[in-house]
Amino acid sequence: MTTSPARVPAAPSQGGRPRVVIIGSGFGGLFAAQRLRKADVDITLIGKTSHHLFQPLLYQVATGILSEGEIAPSTREVLRRQENVRVVLGEVVDIDLAARTVTSTVLGRTAVHPYDELIVAAGAGQSYFGNDRFAEFAPGMKSIDDALELRGRIFGAFELAELADDQAEIDRLLTFVVVGAGPTGVEMAGQIAELAHRTLRHDFRRIDPTTARVVLLDAAPAVLPSFGEKLGDRARRQLNQTGVEVQLGAMVTNVDADGIEIKDADGQVRRINAATKIWAAGVQASPLGRMLGEQSGAEVDRAGRVSVLPDLSLPGHPEVHVVGDMMALNKLPGVAQVAIQGGRYAADQITRRLAGKAALPPFTYHDKGSMATISRFHAVTDLGKLKFEGFLAWVMWLVVHLFYIVGFKSRVTTVLHWLVSFLGRGRSQRVATQQQVFGRLALENLGPAFEASKTGGPRTVPDGEDLTGRESA
Ligand SMILES: Cc1cc2nc3c(=O)[nH]c(=O)nc-3n(C[C@H](O)[C@H](O)[C@H](O)COP(=O)(O)OP(=O)(O)OC[C@H]3O[C@@H](n4cnc5c(N)ncnc54)[C@H](O)[C@@H]3O)c2cc1C
Repeated sequence: MTTSPARVPAAPSQGGRPRVVIIGSGFGGLFAAQRLRKADVDITLIGKTSHHLFQPLLYQVATGILSEGEIAPSTREVLRRQENVRVVLGEVVDIDLAARTVTSTVLGRTAVHPYDELIVAAGAGQSYFGNDRFAEFAPGMKSIDDALELRGRIFGAFELAELADDQAEIDRLLTFVVVGAGPTGVEMAGQIAELAHRTLRHDFRRIDPTTARVVLLDAAPAVLPSFGEKLGDRARRQLNQTGVEVQLGAMVTNVDADGIEIKDADGQVRRINAATKIWAAGVQASPLGRMLGEQSGAEVDRAGRVSVLPDLSLPGHPEVHVVGDMMALNKLPGVAQVAIQGGRYAADQITRRLAGKAALPPFTYHDKGSMATISRFHAVTDLGKLKFEGFLAWVMWLVVHLFYIVGFKSRVTTVLHWLVSFLGRGRSQRVATQQQVFGRLALENLGPAFEASKTGGPRTVPDGEDLTGRESA
Protein backbone atom coordinates (compact mmCIF):
# COMPACT_ATOMS: atom_id res chain seq x y z
CA MET A 1 0.00 0.00 0.00
CA THR A 2 1.37 3.45 -0.88
CA THR A 3 0.25 6.35 1.26
CA SER A 4 0.41 10.04 0.41
CA PRO A 5 3.11 12.15 2.08
CA ALA A 6 2.37 13.07 5.67
CA ARG A 7 1.48 16.73 6.05
CA VAL A 8 2.86 18.40 9.14
CA PRO A 9 0.90 21.59 9.89
CA ALA A 10 2.98 24.74 9.61
CA ALA A 11 3.21 26.83 12.77
CA PRO A 12 0.29 29.24 12.99
CA SER A 13 1.13 32.89 12.81
CA GLN A 14 0.78 34.17 16.38
CA GLY A 15 -1.48 37.20 16.62
CA GLY A 16 -1.45 37.65 12.88
CA ARG A 17 2.15 38.92 12.81
CA PRO A 18 3.85 38.97 9.40
CA ARG A 19 5.43 35.63 8.57
CA VAL A 20 9.04 35.61 7.41
CA VAL A 21 10.31 32.31 6.03
CA ILE A 22 14.07 31.86 5.68
CA ILE A 23 15.46 28.96 3.64
CA GLY A 24 18.91 27.85 4.79
CA SER A 25 20.82 28.01 8.07
CA GLY A 26 24.17 28.95 6.50
CA PHE A 27 25.78 32.37 6.58
CA GLY A 28 23.01 34.20 4.72
CA GLY A 29 20.08 32.55 6.51
CA LEU A 30 21.45 32.59 10.05
CA PHE A 31 22.68 36.19 9.96
CA ALA A 32 19.35 37.32 8.44
CA ALA A 33 17.42 35.58 11.23
CA GLN A 34 19.61 37.14 13.91
CA ARG A 35 19.21 40.57 12.36
CA LEU A 36 15.43 40.20 12.71
CA ARG A 37 15.63 39.47 16.45
CA LYS A 38 13.82 42.63 17.47
CA ALA A 39 11.35 42.64 14.56
CA ASP A 40 7.66 42.12 15.25
CA VAL A 41 7.45 39.09 12.96
CA ASP A 42 7.19 35.30 13.16
CA ILE A 43 10.22 33.74 11.52
CA THR A 44 10.43 30.15 10.30
CA LEU A 45 13.98 29.13 9.48
CA ILE A 46 14.04 25.94 7.40
CA GLY A 47 17.33 24.09 7.10
CA LYS A 48 18.27 20.85 5.39
CA THR A 49 20.58 20.17 8.32
CA SER A 50 20.02 20.90 12.00
CA HIS A 51 23.31 22.82 12.18
CA HIS A 52 24.86 26.01 10.89
CA LEU A 53 28.06 25.20 9.03
CA PHE A 54 31.27 27.21 9.03
CA GLN A 55 32.44 25.92 5.64
CA PRO A 56 35.84 27.70 5.58
CA LEU A 57 37.13 25.29 8.25
CA LEU A 58 35.77 22.06 6.74
CA TYR A 59 39.26 21.15 5.57
CA GLN A 60 40.44 21.15 9.20
CA VAL A 61 37.74 18.59 10.06
CA ALA A 62 38.81 16.52 7.04
CA THR A 63 42.44 16.53 8.18
CA GLY A 64 41.80 15.77 11.83
CA ILE A 65 42.51 19.18 13.37
CA LEU A 66 38.99 20.11 14.46
CA SER A 67 35.91 18.13 15.41
CA GLU A 68 32.72 18.60 13.45
CA GLY A 69 30.93 20.14 16.46
CA GLU A 70 33.33 23.07 16.51
CA ILE A 71 32.34 24.24 13.06
CA ALA A 72 28.73 23.08 13.05
CA PRO A 73 26.78 24.34 16.07
CA SER A 74 23.11 23.40 16.38
CA THR A 75 21.02 26.14 14.73
CA ARG A 76 18.33 25.63 17.35
CA GLU A 77 20.84 26.25 20.13
CA VAL A 78 22.28 29.33 18.45
CA LEU A 79 18.79 30.83 18.19
CA ARG A 80 17.37 29.50 21.46
CA ARG A 81 16.95 32.92 23.05
CA GLN A 82 15.40 34.51 19.97
CA GLU A 83 11.73 33.83 20.60
CA ASN A 84 10.41 35.05 17.26
CA VAL A 85 12.21 32.22 15.40
CA ARG A 86 11.03 28.66 14.91
CA VAL A 87 13.70 26.34 13.51
CA VAL A 88 12.40 23.58 11.22
CA LEU A 89 14.41 20.66 9.87
CA GLY A 90 13.58 19.91 6.26
CA GLU A 91 14.67 20.19 2.67
CA VAL A 92 12.71 22.77 0.71
CA VAL A 93 11.42 21.01 -2.39
CA ASP A 94 9.01 23.63 -3.66
CA ILE A 95 8.52 27.38 -3.62
CA ASP A 96 5.18 28.62 -4.96
CA LEU A 97 5.58 32.32 -5.67
CA ALA A 98 1.90 32.78 -6.61
CA ALA A 99 0.52 31.07 -3.50
CA ARG A 100 3.38 32.44 -1.35
CA THR A 101 4.19 29.07 0.19
CA VAL A 102 7.30 26.99 0.72
CA THR A 103 7.13 23.21 0.98
CA SER A 104 9.72 21.31 2.97
CA THR A 105 10.16 17.62 3.55
CA VAL A 106 12.19 15.38 5.81
CA LEU A 107 12.00 11.59 5.99
CA GLY A 108 8.54 11.40 4.49
CA ARG A 109 7.12 14.31 6.51
CA THR A 110 6.04 17.25 4.41
CA ALA A 111 5.18 20.74 5.68
CA VAL A 112 3.81 23.77 3.83
CA HIS A 113 4.88 27.18 5.17
CA PRO A 114 2.98 30.29 4.08
CA TYR A 115 5.02 33.49 4.01
CA ASP A 116 4.59 37.22 3.72
CA GLU A 117 8.33 37.73 3.20
CA LEU A 118 10.79 35.09 2.01
CA ILE A 119 14.58 34.99 2.22
CA VAL A 120 16.17 32.31 0.06
CA ALA A 121 19.71 31.46 1.22
CA ALA A 122 20.15 27.82 0.18
CA GLY A 123 23.78 28.26 -0.93
CA ALA A 124 25.61 26.11 -3.46
CA GLY A 125 26.75 22.54 -3.86
CA GLN A 126 29.71 20.96 -5.64
CA SER A 127 29.90 21.12 -9.43
CA TYR A 128 31.72 18.47 -11.42
CA PHE A 129 31.21 20.50 -14.62
CA GLY A 130 28.79 17.96 -16.08
CA ASN A 131 30.81 14.92 -14.94
CA ASP A 132 28.78 13.95 -11.90
CA ARG A 133 30.10 10.40 -12.13
CA PHE A 134 33.44 11.71 -10.77
CA ALA A 135 31.71 12.22 -7.41
CA GLU A 136 31.79 8.49 -6.71
CA PHE A 137 35.58 8.46 -6.47
CA ALA A 138 36.42 12.13 -5.83
CA PRO A 139 34.21 13.47 -3.05
CA GLY A 140 33.75 17.22 -2.80
CA MET A 141 33.91 19.25 0.37
CA LYS A 142 30.66 21.01 1.10
CA SER A 143 29.23 19.34 4.18
CA ILE A 144 30.15 17.65 7.44
CA ASP A 145 29.45 14.30 5.78
CA ASP A 146 31.94 15.19 3.03
CA ALA A 147 34.62 16.23 5.54
CA LEU A 148 34.21 13.06 7.62
CA GLU A 149 34.26 10.88 4.51
CA LEU A 150 37.47 12.57 3.39
CA ARG A 151 39.01 12.23 6.84
CA GLY A 152 38.29 8.50 6.69
CA ARG A 153 39.69 8.20 3.18
CA ILE A 154 42.87 10.16 4.02
CA PHE A 155 43.75 8.43 7.29
CA GLY A 156 42.49 5.11 5.87
CA ALA A 157 44.88 5.34 2.92
CA PHE A 158 47.88 5.38 5.30
CA GLU A 159 46.44 2.39 7.19
CA LEU A 160 45.99 0.36 3.97
CA ALA A 161 49.46 1.31 2.79
CA GLU A 162 50.91 -0.13 6.02
CA LEU A 163 49.28 -3.45 5.07
CA ALA A 164 50.35 -3.52 1.43
CA ASP A 165 53.35 -5.51 0.17
CA ASP A 166 53.51 -4.33 -3.40
CA GLN A 167 55.42 -1.05 -3.83
CA ALA A 168 53.18 0.14 -6.67
CA GLU A 169 50.16 -0.35 -4.43
CA ILE A 170 51.87 1.48 -1.54
CA ASP A 171 52.61 4.37 -3.90
CA ARG A 172 49.00 4.46 -5.12
CA LEU A 173 47.70 4.51 -1.55
CA LEU A 174 50.15 7.24 -0.56
CA THR A 175 49.23 9.50 -3.47
CA PHE A 176 46.66 12.21 -2.77
CA VAL A 177 45.28 14.33 -5.59
CA VAL A 178 43.40 17.55 -4.89
CA VAL A 179 41.55 19.03 -7.88
CA GLY A 180 41.13 22.82 -7.83
CA ALA A 181 43.79 25.36 -6.84
CA GLY A 182 41.42 27.88 -5.27
CA PRO A 183 41.54 28.54 -1.49
CA THR A 184 39.85 25.24 -0.54
CA GLY A 185 42.17 23.12 -2.69
CA VAL A 186 45.29 24.98 -1.54
CA GLU A 187 44.34 24.64 2.14
CA MET A 188 43.46 20.99 1.76
CA ALA A 189 46.64 20.06 -0.12
CA GLY A 190 48.81 21.99 2.36
CA GLN A 191 47.24 20.21 5.31
CA ILE A 192 47.57 16.71 3.81
CA ALA A 193 51.25 17.43 3.18
CA GLU A 194 51.73 18.56 6.80
CA LEU A 195 49.85 15.51 8.03
CA ALA A 196 52.15 13.20 6.09
CA HIS A 197 55.39 15.02 6.83
CA ARG A 198 54.86 16.09 10.45
CA THR A 199 51.95 14.41 12.20
CA LEU A 200 52.23 10.84 10.97
CA ARG A 201 56.00 10.74 10.60
CA HIS A 202 56.64 8.34 13.49
CA ASP A 203 53.31 6.50 13.55
CA PHE A 204 53.92 3.61 11.13
CA ARG A 205 56.42 0.74 11.11
CA ARG A 206 56.45 -0.51 7.51
CA ILE A 207 55.73 2.60 5.49
CA ASP A 208 57.32 6.02 5.62
CA PRO A 209 54.46 8.56 5.55
CA THR A 210 56.88 11.33 4.54
CA THR A 211 57.16 9.69 1.10
CA ALA A 212 53.49 10.46 0.44
CA ARG A 213 52.86 12.38 -2.76
CA VAL A 214 50.39 15.27 -2.62
CA VAL A 215 49.38 16.69 -6.01
CA LEU A 216 47.36 19.86 -6.44
CA LEU A 217 46.09 20.31 -9.97
CA ASP A 218 43.99 22.80 -11.85
CA ALA A 219 42.98 23.37 -15.46
CA ALA A 220 43.71 27.09 -14.99
CA PRO A 221 47.28 28.37 -15.28
CA ALA A 222 47.46 29.88 -11.78
CA VAL A 223 47.19 29.06 -8.09
CA LEU A 224 44.67 31.20 -6.15
CA PRO A 225 43.75 33.22 -9.26
CA SER A 226 41.42 35.53 -7.30
CA PHE A 227 44.39 36.71 -5.17
CA GLY A 228 46.34 38.06 -8.17
CA GLU A 229 49.51 36.85 -9.87
CA LYS A 230 52.04 37.89 -7.24
CA LEU A 231 50.34 36.23 -4.25
CA GLY A 232 49.45 33.24 -6.42
CA ASP A 233 53.12 32.72 -7.33
CA ARG A 234 54.20 33.04 -3.73
CA ALA A 235 51.53 30.58 -2.65
CA ARG A 236 52.76 28.15 -5.28
CA ARG A 237 56.36 28.42 -4.03
CA GLN A 238 55.25 27.90 -0.44
CA LEU A 239 53.19 24.88 -1.44
CA ASN A 240 56.23 23.36 -3.12
CA GLN A 241 58.27 23.92 0.03
CA THR A 242 55.55 22.22 2.07
CA GLY A 243 55.82 19.17 -0.19
CA VAL A 244 52.89 19.76 -2.54
CA GLU A 245 53.40 19.15 -6.28
CA VAL A 246 51.47 21.82 -8.16
CA GLN A 247 50.35 20.94 -11.71
CA LEU A 248 48.62 23.71 -13.66
CA GLY A 249 46.92 23.64 -17.07
CA ALA A 250 45.89 20.10 -16.15
CA MET A 251 42.31 19.19 -16.97
CA VAL A 252 40.73 16.14 -15.36
CA THR A 253 39.18 13.88 -18.01
CA ASN A 254 38.33 10.85 -15.89
CA VAL A 255 38.34 9.60 -12.34
CA ASP A 256 38.10 5.99 -11.17
CA ALA A 257 38.76 4.00 -8.02
CA ASP A 258 42.46 3.61 -8.82
CA GLY A 259 43.38 7.04 -10.07
CA ILE A 260 42.76 10.07 -12.17
CA GLU A 261 43.28 10.82 -15.88
CA ILE A 262 44.50 14.25 -16.94
CA LYS A 263 44.85 16.12 -20.20
CA ASP A 264 47.67 18.67 -20.16
CA ALA A 265 47.68 22.00 -21.96
CA ASP A 266 49.74 20.40 -24.80
CA GLY A 267 46.98 17.82 -25.37
CA GLN A 268 48.90 14.90 -23.79
CA VAL A 269 46.77 12.57 -21.71
CA ARG A 270 48.36 10.98 -18.66
CA ARG A 271 47.32 9.16 -15.51
CA ILE A 272 48.15 9.48 -11.83
CA ASN A 273 47.49 6.38 -9.77
CA ALA A 274 45.99 7.63 -6.53
CA ALA A 275 43.62 6.09 -4.01
CA THR A 276 42.47 9.45 -2.62
CA LYS A 277 41.05 12.09 -4.91
CA ILE A 278 39.43 15.27 -3.57
CA TRP A 279 37.27 17.58 -5.67
CA ALA A 280 37.57 21.24 -4.73
CA ALA A 281 36.93 22.68 -8.17
CA GLY A 282 33.51 24.17 -8.82
CA VAL A 283 30.19 25.23 -7.37
CA GLN A 284 26.60 24.95 -8.52
CA ALA A 285 23.91 27.00 -6.80
CA SER A 286 20.96 25.25 -5.15
CA PRO A 287 18.33 23.98 -7.62
CA LEU A 288 15.89 26.32 -5.87
CA GLY A 289 17.50 29.10 -7.94
CA ARG A 290 16.28 27.54 -11.16
CA MET A 291 12.84 27.08 -9.63
CA LEU A 292 12.69 30.80 -8.78
CA GLY A 293 13.90 31.67 -12.28
CA GLU A 294 11.24 29.55 -13.97
CA GLN A 295 8.41 31.12 -11.96
CA SER A 296 9.58 34.74 -12.05
CA GLY A 297 11.36 34.94 -15.39
CA ALA A 298 14.57 36.02 -13.58
CA GLU A 299 17.77 35.09 -15.40
CA VAL A 300 19.66 32.09 -14.05
CA ASP A 301 23.35 31.74 -14.98
CA ARG A 302 25.27 28.54 -15.81
CA ALA A 303 26.19 28.08 -12.17
CA GLY A 304 22.50 28.21 -11.25
CA ARG A 305 22.64 31.68 -9.62
CA VAL A 306 19.56 33.88 -9.89
CA SER A 307 19.90 37.45 -11.11
CA VAL A 308 18.45 39.71 -8.46
CA LEU A 309 17.59 43.40 -8.49
CA PRO A 310 20.02 45.80 -6.77
CA ASP A 311 17.94 45.47 -3.56
CA LEU A 312 18.48 41.66 -3.66
CA SER A 313 14.82 41.02 -4.45
CA LEU A 314 13.53 38.75 -7.19
CA PRO A 315 12.29 40.69 -10.23
CA GLY A 316 8.52 41.20 -9.89
CA HIS A 317 8.56 39.86 -6.32
CA PRO A 318 9.65 42.50 -3.80
CA GLU A 319 8.65 40.07 -1.02
CA VAL A 320 11.27 37.49 -2.12
CA HIS A 321 14.94 38.13 -1.28
CA VAL A 322 17.76 35.93 -2.59
CA VAL A 323 21.14 36.17 -0.84
CA GLY A 324 24.58 34.55 -0.69
CA ASP A 325 25.91 31.92 -3.08
CA MET A 326 22.54 31.66 -4.85
CA MET A 327 22.38 35.23 -6.09
CA ALA A 328 24.01 36.82 -9.10
CA LEU A 329 24.63 40.55 -8.77
CA ASN A 330 27.51 42.64 -10.10
CA LYS A 331 29.80 39.58 -10.28
CA LEU A 332 30.01 39.42 -6.48
CA PRO A 333 32.03 36.37 -5.36
CA GLY A 334 30.59 33.36 -3.55
CA VAL A 335 32.14 34.14 -0.16
CA ALA A 336 30.87 34.26 3.39
CA GLN A 337 30.91 38.06 3.69
CA VAL A 338 28.67 38.49 0.63
CA ALA A 339 26.17 36.10 2.23
CA ILE A 340 26.37 37.68 5.69
CA GLN A 341 26.02 41.24 4.43
CA GLY A 342 23.28 40.20 1.98
CA GLY A 343 21.34 38.37 4.70
CA ARG A 344 21.48 41.38 7.01
CA TYR A 345 20.49 43.74 4.19
CA ALA A 346 17.46 41.59 3.29
CA ALA A 347 16.42 41.52 6.96
CA ASP A 348 16.67 45.33 7.20
CA GLN A 349 14.73 45.70 3.97
CA ILE A 350 11.96 43.48 5.34
CA THR A 351 11.76 45.45 8.59
CA ARG A 352 11.40 48.68 6.61
CA ARG A 353 8.85 47.27 4.18
CA LEU A 354 6.69 45.97 7.01
CA ALA A 355 6.92 49.32 8.82
CA GLY A 356 5.87 51.10 5.64
CA LYS A 357 9.21 52.97 5.50
CA ALA A 358 11.10 53.92 2.34
CA ALA A 359 13.26 51.15 0.88
CA LEU A 360 17.00 51.06 1.56
CA PRO A 361 19.41 52.22 -1.14
CA PRO A 362 20.78 49.39 -3.34
CA PHE A 363 22.93 46.74 -1.67
CA THR A 364 26.61 47.58 -1.55
CA TYR A 365 29.16 44.97 -0.64
CA HIS A 366 32.03 45.97 1.64
CA ASP A 367 34.95 43.77 0.69
CA LYS A 368 36.88 42.88 3.85
CA GLY A 369 39.54 40.98 1.91
CA SER A 370 40.40 37.32 1.36
CA MET A 371 42.76 34.92 3.04
CA ALA A 372 43.99 31.37 2.58
CA THR A 373 46.35 29.29 4.71
CA ILE A 374 49.00 27.28 2.96
CA SER A 375 50.72 25.60 5.84
CA ARG A 376 51.37 25.99 9.53
CA PHE A 377 52.53 29.58 10.14
CA HIS A 378 52.00 30.59 6.51
CA ALA A 379 49.02 32.25 4.83
CA VAL A 380 48.28 34.77 2.10
CA THR A 381 46.10 37.82 2.72
CA ASP A 382 44.59 40.12 0.13
CA LEU A 383 43.13 43.30 1.60
CA GLY A 384 42.76 45.10 -1.72
CA LYS A 385 45.72 47.47 -1.89
CA LEU A 386 47.51 45.63 0.88
CA LYS A 387 48.61 42.13 -0.09
CA PHE A 388 50.98 40.12 2.07
CA GLU A 389 51.92 36.60 3.08
CA GLY A 390 53.75 34.69 5.77
CA PHE A 391 53.43 34.46 9.53
CA LEU A 392 51.56 37.74 10.06
CA ALA A 393 49.00 36.75 7.44
CA TRP A 394 48.59 33.41 9.19
CA VAL A 395 47.99 35.03 12.60
CA MET A 396 45.42 37.32 10.99
CA TRP A 397 43.77 34.32 9.43
CA LEU A 398 43.53 32.61 12.86
CA VAL A 399 42.01 35.68 14.54
CA VAL A 400 39.46 36.36 11.79
CA HIS A 401 38.30 32.75 11.62
CA LEU A 402 38.05 32.52 15.38
CA PHE A 403 35.90 35.65 15.41
CA TYR A 404 33.39 34.17 12.97
CA ILE A 405 33.13 30.71 14.58
CA VAL A 406 29.70 30.68 16.21
CA GLY A 407 29.55 30.13 19.99
CA PHE A 408 31.93 30.62 22.92
CA LYS A 409 32.35 26.88 23.60
CA SER A 410 33.41 26.22 20.01
CA ARG A 411 35.91 29.07 20.11
CA VAL A 412 37.59 27.74 23.26
CA THR A 413 37.92 24.17 21.99
CA THR A 414 39.03 25.38 18.55
CA VAL A 415 41.91 27.31 20.15
CA LEU A 416 42.92 24.20 22.13
CA HIS A 417 42.88 22.03 19.00
CA TRP A 418 44.90 24.62 17.09
CA LEU A 419 47.50 24.60 19.87
CA VAL A 420 47.72 20.80 19.65
CA SER A 421 48.15 20.86 15.87
CA PHE A 422 50.16 24.00 15.22
CA LEU A 423 52.46 24.21 18.25
CA GLY A 424 52.63 20.45 18.69
CA ARG A 425 52.47 17.95 15.84
CA GLY A 426 49.30 16.13 16.87
CA ARG A 427 45.80 15.94 15.46
CA SER A 428 43.04 15.52 18.03
CA GLN A 429 40.40 14.18 15.67
CA ARG A 430 41.72 11.07 13.94
CA VAL A 431 38.63 8.89 14.29
CA ALA A 432 37.63 7.43 10.93
CA THR A 433 34.96 4.80 10.53
CA GLN A 434 33.81 2.67 7.61
CA GLN A 435 30.35 4.19 7.89
CA GLN A 436 31.82 7.64 7.35
CA VAL A 437 33.75 6.51 4.32
CA PHE A 438 31.14 4.35 2.60
CA GLY A 439 27.83 5.71 3.99
CA ARG A 440 27.30 8.23 1.20
CA LEU A 441 27.69 5.69 -1.58
CA ALA A 442 25.63 3.10 0.30
CA LEU A 443 22.75 5.56 0.77
CA GLU A 444 22.91 6.60 -2.87
CA ASN A 445 22.61 2.96 -3.87
CA LEU A 446 19.65 2.38 -1.57
CA GLY A 447 17.77 5.43 -2.83
CA PRO A 448 15.51 7.92 -1.04
CA ALA A 449 12.84 5.34 -0.21
CA PHE A 450 15.28 3.77 2.27
CA GLU A 451 15.28 6.83 4.53
CA ALA A 452 11.51 6.93 4.84
CA SER A 453 11.35 3.20 5.52
CA LYS A 454 13.63 3.42 8.56
CA THR A 455 12.05 6.11 10.72
CA GLY A 456 8.61 4.68 11.36
CA GLY A 457 5.48 6.79 11.24
CA PRO A 458 4.10 8.18 8.00
CA ARG A 459 5.78 6.78 4.93
CA THR A 460 5.65 7.07 1.19
CA VAL A 461 7.16 3.67 0.42
CA PRO A 462 5.22 0.44 0.14
CA ASP A 463 4.51 -1.14 3.54
CA GLY A 464 6.67 -4.07 4.51
CA GLU A 465 9.14 -3.59 1.66
CA ASP A 466 12.66 -4.19 2.93
CA LEU A 467 15.13 -2.12 1.00
CA THR A 468 18.23 -3.18 2.89
CA GLY A 469 18.74 -6.41 1.00
CA ARG A 470 19.09 -8.24 4.35
CA GLU A 471 17.17 -11.40 5.24
CA SER A 472 15.36 -9.56 8.01
CA ALA A 473 15.64 -5.98 9.14
C1 LIG B 1 35.21 24.19 1.71
C2 LIG B 1 34.81 25.63 1.62
C3 LIG B 1 35.67 26.62 2.05
C4 LIG B 1 35.30 27.96 1.98
N1 LIG B 1 36.18 28.90 2.44
C5 LIG B 1 35.80 30.19 2.45
C6 LIG B 1 36.65 31.18 3.00
O1 LIG B 1 37.76 30.89 3.45
N2 LIG B 1 36.21 32.47 3.03
C7 LIG B 1 34.98 32.81 2.55
O2 LIG B 1 34.60 33.98 2.63
N3 LIG B 1 34.16 31.90 2.00
C8 LIG B 1 34.53 30.61 1.95
N4 LIG B 1 33.70 29.67 1.41
C9 LIG B 1 32.43 30.10 0.80
C10 LIG B 1 31.38 30.38 1.85
O3 LIG B 1 31.32 29.33 2.78
C11 LIG B 1 30.04 30.58 1.14
O4 LIG B 1 30.17 31.66 0.26
C12 LIG B 1 28.92 30.84 2.13
O5 LIG B 1 28.75 29.73 2.97
C13 LIG B 1 27.62 31.17 1.40
O6 LIG B 1 26.61 31.37 2.33
P1 LIG B 1 25.11 30.98 1.95
O7 LIG B 1 24.26 31.34 3.12
O8 LIG B 1 24.76 31.50 0.63
O9 LIG B 1 25.15 29.41 1.79
P2 LIG B 1 25.58 28.28 2.85
O10 LIG B 1 26.41 28.84 3.95
O11 LIG B 1 26.10 27.19 2.02
O12 LIG B 1 24.19 27.88 3.48
C14 LIG B 1 23.19 27.26 2.72
C15 LIG B 1 22.22 26.63 3.71
O13 LIG B 1 21.07 26.21 3.03
C16 LIG B 1 20.75 24.88 3.39
N5 LIG B 1 20.02 24.32 2.25
C17 LIG B 1 20.47 24.06 1.01
N6 LIG B 1 19.48 23.61 0.23
C18 LIG B 1 18.38 23.60 1.00
C19 LIG B 1 17.03 23.22 0.78
N7 LIG B 1 16.60 22.80 -0.41
N8 LIG B 1 16.18 23.31 1.81
C20 LIG B 1 16.58 23.74 3.03
N9 LIG B 1 17.84 24.11 3.30
C21 LIG B 1 18.72 24.05 2.29
C22 LIG B 1 22.09 24.24 3.67
O14 LIG B 1 21.96 23.10 4.47
C23 LIG B 1 22.78 25.40 4.40
O15 LIG B 1 22.38 25.45 5.73
C24 LIG B 1 34.05 28.31 1.47
C25 LIG B 1 33.18 27.33 1.02
C26 LIG B 1 33.56 26.00 1.09
C27 LIG B 1 32.61 24.92 0.63
